[in-house]
Amino acid sequence: MGSNKINNRKEKDITLPGIEKWMFQEKVKMLYQNQTQSWVISILASAIMAYLSLETHNVVAGLSWWIVFVSITLMRTWNTRRFCKVYKAGTIVNYRHWFNRFYVFTVMAGIGWGVGGFVVGSYLDSLGQVFIFIVLIGVGAAAIPLLGVVQRVMLSFQIISTIPYVIYISILLEERGIVLLCMFFLYMVGVVASIRRMDINLTQSMKLQYENSQMVDTLSESNQQLQNANEKLETLTLEDALTELHNRRYFEMQLEVEWKRESREHKILTLMVIDIDYFKLYNDTYGHAEGDVCLKTVAQVLKSCLHRSTDIIARIGGEEFVVMLPNINTEGASILAKQMQHQLHLAELTHATSPLGENVTVSIGIASVIPGENATALSLFKAADKALYKAKAKGRNQLVIGEMELQ
Ligand code: GH3
Ligand code: MG
Ligand code: MG
Repeated sequence: MGSNKINNRKEKDITLPGIEKWMFQEKVKMLYQNQTQSWVISILASAIMAYLSLETHNVVAGLSWWIVFVSITLMRTWNTRRFCKVYKAGTIVNYRHWFNRFYVFTVMAGIGWGVGGFVVGSYLDSLGQVFIFIVLIGVGAAAIPLLGVVQRVMLSFQIISTIPYVIYISILLEERGIVLLCMFFLYMVGVVASIRRMDINLTQSMKLQYENSQMVDTLSESNQQLQNANEKLETLTLEDALTELHNRRYFEMQLEVEWKRESREHKILTLMVIDIDYFKLYNDTYGHAEGDVCLKTVAQVLKSCLHRSTDIIARIGGEEFVVMLPNINTEGASILAKQMQHQLHLAELTHATSPLGENVTVSIGIASVIPGENATALSLFKAADKALYKAKAKGRNQLVIGEMELQ
C-alpha cells in the first residue's frame, strides 16, 4: 500500500513543468561535485596496483599503466575544474554536453581499471590475482556514492572496469573461479539494488525540493501582491485622492499620536485651519473641473511652505485644510500662515468674481496649547476652527489666533 502511494505521487509530479530538465541538471552538478573524492580514491587505489606490479617481472608494463592511468585521472580533474569555472560564471547552457563529457571520462577511467587488472594481474600468482580482484571490487564499491547519482554512469563504470578481468581470472582459476564468479554476481546484485534505491530516494527528494521551491515562489509572489494591495489600500484610505495630501482620517490619527507625545514632553502643539474664500463663487464662475484644479494648486502652495518632517497638512473637507505643527507656538505659526497667504498671492490664481480682489485667497484660524489634563485634542481643533470663522467674519483673507477654552 505504502509503495503504491509513492508511485501515485510520482506520476502526479511528473506533470510539473520543467522538473525533468531541472533534475537532470542537478544530477550533473552532483556528479561533478563528487569528483574530488573520486580523484583521491583513484590515485590511492591505482598506486596499490602499481605497487603490486613491482613484484612481477614486468615492472615496466605496470608502471607504464600507472602513468597512463594517472594522466587519465588528471584529465578528468581538468574537466571538472572547467565545469566548476563555467558553472561559477553562470554560463552553462547545455548540461547534456557536460554530462557527455563526464560520461566519456568515466568510461576512460573504467577502461583504465580494466586494462590495469589485466596488465598487473596477468603477471601475478593466483593470490595476487584475487588481490587485484578485491582492489577492483573496492574501487567499484567506493564509486557507488560518487557515480550512483546516474545509474547509467555507475553501471557502465562497473561493467567496463571489472567484468572482463573477472571473467579472465575465473577461467584461470578454474573451479575456484566459479566461486569467485558467484561472489561477483552477488556483489553486482548488491550494486544494482543500492543504485536503484539511491535513484528512487534521490528522485523523490528532488521532486519534493522542486515542489517546495515552486510553492515558495508562488507564496512569495502572492505575498508581494498582498503587500502591494495593502499599501495601495493604506494610501487610498489615508490620502486625499484629489490633492494627494493626507485626508481627515490620517490627520485624526496623527493628532492623537502627537497629542500624546507633546503631553509627555510638555511641548506646545499648534493647529491651523485654512479655508478658501468664496470658493462656491469660484466654482460658479469657472466650473467644478477648474475648481478641482484650483484646489490642487492651493494644496501644493500650502504644502510647499512646510519644511519640517513633523509638520502635517491634510485636506479635511471640500475647500478646507488643516496644518498640525508640533513644537511651534502661535507666533511661529502666524509667520508661517502669512507666508502661506503670501505664496498664494504670488501664485496668482485668478478669481475674477471674488469681492476681495482678483486672486484666490484663504482665511486662517490658529490655536495652540501644551497638551494636558485641562484640554483635549478636539478642544484644540475647535478653537482653531472658531478662529477661522472669526477670520471669515472679519472680512476673509485674514489670520486670527484663537483662545483655548481650558476646562
Ligand atoms: P467662504 O468664503 O465662506 O468659505 O465661502 P465658500 O464659498 O468658500 O464656502 P461654502 O461652504 O459656501 O462653499 C464651499 C464650496 O466648495 C461649495 C462646493 O461646491 C465647493 N467644493 C467642495 N468640495 C469641492 C471639490 O472637491 N471640488 C470643487 N471643485 N469644489 C468643491
Ligand atoms: Mg470657503
Ligand atoms: Mg468651507
